[in-house]
Amino acid sequence: MSAGSAHEAETIVIVGAGQAGGWAAQTLRQEGFTGSIALVGDERHYPYERPPLSKAVLSGAAPAGSTFLMKPEAFEKLDLDWRPGVRATSIDREARQLRLSTDEGIGYDKLILCTGGRARTTNLPGADLAGLFTLRTIDDAAALSKVLMPGKRMVVVGGGWIGLEVAATARSKGVEVTVVELMTRLCERTVPPEISRYLSRLHSGHGVRLMLGAGVAGFTSNAEGLPVVALADGRELSCDAVVVGIGMIPNDAIARDAGLACDGGILVDARCRTSDPRILAAGDVAAWHCEWAGRRMRLESWQNAQEQGIAAARSALGVEVVHQPLPWFWSDQYDVNLQIYGIADPFHRAVVRGDLESDSFVLFYLDEDRVRSAMGPNAARDLRFARRLIESRKRVDPQRLADTSIAMSKQ
Ligand code: FAD
Repeated sequence: MSAGSAHEAETIVIVGAGQAGGWAAQTLRQEGFTGSIALVGDERHYPYERPPLSKAVLSGAAPAGSTFLMKPEAFEKLDLDWRPGVRATSIDREARQLRLSTDEGIGYDKLILCTGGRARTTNLPGADLAGLFTLRTIDDAAALSKVLMPGKRMVVVGGGWIGLEVAATARSKGVEVTVVELMTRLCERTVPPEISRYLSRLHSGHGVRLMLGAGVAGFTSNAEGLPVVALADGRELSCDAVVVGIGMIPNDAIARDAGLACDGGILVDARCRTSDPRILAAGDVAAWHCEWAGRRMRLESWQNAQEQGIAAARSALGVEVVHQPLPWFWSDQYDVNLQIYGIADPFHRAVVRGDLESDSFVLFYLDEDRVRSAMGPNAARDLRFARRLIESRKRVDPQRLADTSIAMSKQ
């Protein structure tokens, strides 16, 4: 008997029709669940993946529809009670009912929260002026793509992944780009200094002006109504558009208001269960104890949104899932594909395979003689082997690891 057939009279409600929510809905049907599935999403689009929004969709190389999780016909076949453009406003856990912005309610047997996050905005003076953009949705990408024209000037506030991908795409369209970052290195929160240095070299080499350790004091407009970024040290940057890429905020308010345990995200266990056994959560909004990192965290990644969305759906059907994927993240900038496996810890020992000054190398982080994380640009093949070393927890010889004459398959 399939996992879902015992639940045919049940209703499972999914809040958030993004990547995790879309995968959860699809998985419920794949597992044989024949009950009712409501998918409530405040965007008007079919469930979609966001990575192309800062890359091919932003540049115009791919249409927005290419990022949908599945073709509209396949989506319709899932036979969902789909509510596009509808916001879930509250959860009545006692009555097991979800309240909607349409003033309706939907009863649930199981509820899966896949509410993701929203772009973090700033409350600095002038933050609401015209010409300032954030990037999280298809609609954001459509608006921003209109200003990517040769000769336009863009200031990107925030040297994290989204900011750098936007910078790369904008440069490819002939836009003059300045990146303003408060920290003294790029992607400081997520990568070690060696990768930050590589990213600085990459972007400088493509003509991006990097201003590191530079704070923004606010925004004004010039006589033509174009934005001006005022820096904390008094300098001013006139431009045609500002992209604020300063991270995201998890959409966990609906869970907090319902009394579910939250702490910078909705707390779940490895079976994706929240503090209420009938409610599960997955994707960017979920925080759990990641065994690979040795701490509680949220993973803002394509891989996690898909795998945790699937895991939450199976768990809702009573399957004993254990969601503990080795964290994997990638970024595409210019012609570079950079990948990261695992979580680097400053106390780990760094081992370099190849030349940090080149366009392809692998940087390992070792805990004694075990690889805990591996990352690098244009090194997908070596990184696949590195992944196996991390997952198998095999002991390695750091000198052999650094020796490019010894194949990764022989480590
Ligand atoms: P989301 O995709 O945010 O979906 C959540 C959905 O729920 C949204 O539609 C939201 O509007 C909706 N919602 C929220 N609250 C409610 C409510 N109360 N009622 C109804 N609907 C609600 N990851 C990588 O690994 N590699 C990359 O290269 C990469 N590039 C990225 C580029 C961009 C521009 C962005 C924004 C993200 C990128 N990511 C990348 C991260 C990845 O896309 C996210 O981790 C993933 O989208 C998370 O999926 P999710 O379903 O958890 O959340």
